[in-house]
Amino acid sequence: MKHYDLIVVGGGLTGVAAAVSAARQGMKVLLADKAGWLGGAMSNCLIYPFMPFYMKDKDGNQVDLSQGFFAELTERAAKDLPAGTKRSYYDSEYFKFLLDDVATEAGVELLFHVTLYKVETEGQEIKKLLFAAKSGTLEYSADYYVDATGDGDLFYFAGCDFQLGRDADNLCQPMTTCFRLANVDKPKFEEELPAMQALYKQYRQQGKILNERENILVFRHGLAEGIVHFNTTRVIRHNPTDPEDVSRAEVIARRQVREMVAFLKENFESCKNATLVTCAADIGVRESRKLRGMHILTQEELIACTKFEDSIALGNYDIDIHNPAGSDTSHYYFGPGEYYTIPYRSLVPKEFGNLLVAGRCLSATHEAQASVRIMPICCCMGEAAGIAAAVMKKSGTDNKTVDVKEVQRILEANGAAIR
Ligand SMILES: Cc1cc2nc3c(=O)[nH]c(=O)nc-3n(C[C@H](O)[C@H](O)[C@H](O)COP(=O)(O)OP(=O)(O)OC[C@H]3O[C@@H](n4cnc5c(N)ncnc54)[C@H](O)[C@@H]3O)c2cc1C
Repeated sequence: MKHYDLIVVGGGLTGVAAAVSAARQGMKVLLADKAGWLGGAMSNCLIYPFMPFYMKDKDGNQVDLSQGFFAELTERAAKDLPAGTKRSYYDSEYFKFLLDDVATEAGVELLFHVTLYKVETEGQEIKKLLFAAKSGTLEYSADYYVDATGDGDLFYFAGCDFQLGRDADNLCQPMTTCFRLANVDKPKFEEELPAMQALYKQYRQQGKILNERENILVFRHGLAEGIVHFNTTRVIRHNPTDPEDVSRAEVIARRQVREMVAFLKENFESCKNATLVTCAADIGVRESRKLRGMHILTQEELIACTKFEDSIALGNYDIDIHNPAGSDTSHYYFGPGEYYTIPYRSLVPKEFGNLLVAGRCLSATHEAQASVRIMPICCCMGEAAGIAAAVMKKSGTDNKTVDVKEVQRILEANGAAIR
């Protein structure tokens, strides 16, 4: 059985950030994912664009809250992409190549097409991971582990305490299949958008559109000529960790894609020649299991803009809750100069000393997760987890005795914003 200093499971931006940051500190790192590329939701679910990772200060100046490794990625992308490309907009095909490069340059070993299905533990330690692969079961062990699976598969199989969805009824934010249309007359589309929204509402009221979403959620900017991106399907009351439920959700969402494409082509000049060019490979999961760790981050703490002593990342994205049980989306927006911090303890499970959990499955309530779940913030959490693993390894400590000030010092030396 191969042994590593660190195994990261999940190759989304969280996992890549964790793996690369640890490898750059001299660790021998394996990064494993069930897909055949890096990027996680960005690649598997066609998520686009980066939600705002900056705030306006009181003088109206833009201040980036997600910096460090996230800034490195987006600056490298901005250099390679056409001049004028904004850092919020990305080409997800380009990002797959970029993430391969960044990971391999750091010496991270990549293992694709393996699905974690079992975790062996002894006392307060994770001992080894078992992956399902074409060749059978593959087993790997490490001194430390990071769960960056989004759904918390690693901590679930290890037996950690967790919360599925919201406290009252376990319902999770809805799942969504993103899709793109090509050959759209974009200037005309802009003109027609208000009429589209109005007709969509009317069709919903008349039962001609079955999609649960209250309006059309569409992104037009930063995409190639004639391409428009839709994040508008909505499947409610399905459990993202139950494959039978997810299978039903995939079919429902694809029906909604067909419904929306037909609605646009039949009623709007700008879309009459449009073609459905891509539908995401996997339905997108906004929320599923969340760790119940050493600190459970709450909405109240975010709204109070709490500055934790053990902060490892910043954020101010709105508390964006797509109704888990129907239509509507609720928001809480932060004002100019307002931002919160994420404590290191929200990455730490109670049960095991050699595991950290980062990304959308961190230890947070349903409401707090609705803000911290965006890709830029997940990326920063991943960076912190990778650095923390390296500090633990160097000092022979565990996730509860590690010198968090040293983790913060390295993060800041690497350009991360944490205060
Ligand atoms: C529909 C939708 C729209 C969104 N819109 C935006 C947006 O516009 N902007 C934004 O910034 N954020 C957006 N988000 C949020 C954001 O995409 C996610 O919260 C974020 O990508 C989570 O990052 P992650 O690294 O934690 O998980 P992921 O990106 O999901 O990565 C997890 C990885 O783990 C792998 N994995 C999972 N389980 C296993 C296993 N058992 N074995 C092996 N590998 C495994 C998966 O293949 C995946 O690659 C959206 C999310 C959804 C669902």
